Amino acid sequence: MPPPAPPRDTLLPAILGPDLPEAACTGRWELFDPPHAGEPPDDLDYRRHRARTICQRCPALTACELTADDFAAQRGSHGFVLAGRTVAGKHW
Ligand code: SF4
Repeated sequence: MPPPAPPRDTLLPAILGPDLPEAACTGRWELFDPPHAGEPPDDLDYRRHRARTICQRCPALTACELTADDFAAQRGSHGFVLAGRTVAGKHW
């Protein structure tokens, strides 16, 4: 039996929480996560593309952008997709 998969840094539930119940990313958190250890660059690019595509159609995009701006200004974590953008650090 293989060892259990390591926990992933699923940030979106913590960021969005119950504030955006119409969020299109609900249940798709893995697409938005920062790079996974050992993840091939092509896989990461594909995953981020899929995440950004979901954001473009999300009814909560405007509200999410406001949340994202606050979050990006406060948090050092980066590499995840939020509001259709990849967070590169404390700033977009
Ligand atoms: S804009 Fe993207 S990250 Fe924000 S709630 Fe919608 S799907 Fe999720």
